[in-house]
Amino acid sequence: MKVQLLPSTVGVAAEHQLLSSYLIDETLCLDVGSLGFHSNLDLQLGVKYLFITHCHSDHLASLPIFLDAHFGEGADEPVPVVIHAEESTARAIREDVLNDRHWPDFFRINDEQGMGLLEMHILEEEKPVSVGDYRITPVRVDHIVDTLAFIVEKDGAAFALVTDTGPSDRIWEVCEKIPGLSLVILELSFPDRMQWLAEISKHLTTSDFVQERSKLPQADDCRFLAVHLKPNQFAEIKSQLESHQLPGVDVMVPGHNYEV
Ligand SMILES: [Zn+2]
Ligand SMILES: [Zn+2]
Repeated sequence: MKVQLLPSTVGVAAEHQLLSSYLIDETLCLDVGSLGFHSNLDLQLGVKYLFITHCHSDHLASLPIFLDAHFGEGADEPVPVVIHAEESTARAIREDVLNDRHWPDFFRINDEQGMGLLEMHILEEEKPVSVGDYRITPVRVDHIVDTLAFIVEKDGAAFALVTDTGPSDRIWEVCEKIPGLSLVILELSFPDRMQWLAEISKHLTTSDFVQERSKLPQADDCRFLAVHLKPNQFAEIKSQLESHQLPGVDVMVPGHNYEV
């Protein structure tokens, strides 16, 4: 599998991770923070499966624009976009985003016109979903709204996306049993001096990140990529993480394809 954190800056390519979209083999995408802003329209139109961790804007911001492109596609035999989300997140998408005020209610339009362009699939905790050759397992993590981590497996290879969350145990118990797990993409939002804010907002500091990593018995055999670094503290968090000199630990670079 190829996994890419899509870029989310305007103007110049930057290492900052303002928005969350994790593109897998240009086939499916975990979160849709910036996918709909991608300059390559063919790439956008090729993605028919979305998996949404939670309803915060940095993970959903480009969903309206992304759907707009698909509804304008005009294909003779349309392939629906399937949004996979848990019940409360699905409700938030319908009530807060596609509500005809924020953006047209594409679900209603799709149903009324019989377009067959959009479906919602409700995820349940730790019930794996198969999409093509991929198997995706959602696991509950601990954020201020209902949030799921995702474990993605294909042909014996596996990686986990764990964002957004405060300290959590269950995800590591599940990850421990995943054969072939070689990559964990783990959130790291704040430097250690902002521990208070990490606790209020249910995110991780650098020390939390190190602690969470240590919960995975096979951590030293896994690559860990830090994501969700707050842009104002980006350099500070990065140098703090590097000072731990942990093997296989880096900050994820937007636009780079990571092989799993
Ligand atoms: Zn969040
Ligand atoms: Zn976020």
